[in-house]
Amino acid sequence: MSARRIRATLLPSGEPTEFWVVDGRISTTPIAGAVDLGTHGQYVIDGLVDAHCHIGLSADGPVDRATAIAQAKTERSAGVLLVRDCGVPTDTHWLEDDRSLPRIVRCGRHIARAKRYIRNFAVEVEPEDLVAEVERQARAGDGWVKVVGDWIDRTVGEITPLWPADVVAAAVAAAHRLGARVTTHVFGEEAVADWVAAGVDCVEHGTGITAPVIEEMVARGTAVVPTLVQTENFPTFAEQGQARFPRYAAQMRDLHARRWETIGACVEAGVPVMAGSDAGGLRPHGTVAEEVIRLSRLLGPDRAIGAAAWRARTWLGTPGAIDGSGVVEGARADLVGFTQDPRTDLVELARPSWVLVDGHEQPTR
Ligand SMILES: [Zn+2]
Repeated sequence: MSARRIRATLLPSGEPTEFWVVDGRISTTPIAGAVDLGTHGQYVIDGLVDAHCHIGLSADGPVDRATAIAQAKTERSAGVLLVRDCGVPTDTHWLEDDRSLPRIVRCGRHIARAKRYIRNFAVEVEPEDLVAEVERQARAGDGWVKVVGDWIDRTVGEITPLWPADVVAAAVAAAHRLGARVTTHVFGEEAVADWVAAGVDCVEHGTGITAPVIEEMVARGTAVVPTLVQTENFPTFAEQGQARFPRYAAQMRDLHARRWETIGACVEAGVPVMAGSDAGGLRPHGTVAEEVIRLSRLLGPDRAIGAAAWRARTWLGTPGAIDGSGVVEGARADLVGFTQDPRTDLVELARPSWVLVDGHEQPTR
């Protein structure tokens, strides 16, 4: 493979830099005969990060291997090189055999209760077995566990917590003892308060976060992945439930109506916010840029990109090839280039001009 030279402005630092890629690694020493990659004046990042994504999942449950690979490639072509997989029904560690695919930080399987989540997605247990299941998934995943915190209870007709507060506390403590972080799916107000009080590390969706919970999240450093594109579907969910579950429908409409206010209050208070597309269930893959565009309304373009790139990477504990002072000599060459500055036009984020993984150029869309 011939060596490449890259002349670019690095983000987030904004420093114009020149470096080389040889044998899949970054070099700051000039390599004779290197071929230029990309254009002069381009912008380069470590790749996008989707903090809430499901590779190996479709609306009907698990997918076959070919489909999981296709999902991973769709993310890669959109410039996503790191994913926190927020729950899949099967173990996808076999994807690591292909070094050209995005890196995945797995949460193991979603944990829920019978009839209290989407069919075919979760491992279903009753509260007395939650701690044991959390321990099992902590060992199966890559340092994260995902528990469904609330969902509609059809016998009540409302969103209610799946687990009593003492069980939540025991579950979070069990994961932390094993060195795993915990995240929870929450739409309503009640469950998120229990999970944050128990020391959960991250909240998915978070439409029911209230002012006292925000205070506690700031004190504890709890993050939120608001999946704003996904929560745009709440009125549709409400409509589908209207006839049989009018109180649930009203809850969903209310949470939807104040979601900008809710997540805006999190941002204002200093809660760490990360970008997640929620691709793989109902949402298509390769769409994290759409989430960044929503987040930019609250964070501004620079921090919104950071929530889907450098800040998310640091939060996940997965350093890339770019650090505060430039490119890292000898780092694996996983990089994404943009012709225009994505900070001045977020639409650019969805169309990288090149994607390099392990030093190899990959197809863009
Ligand atoms: Zn999800």
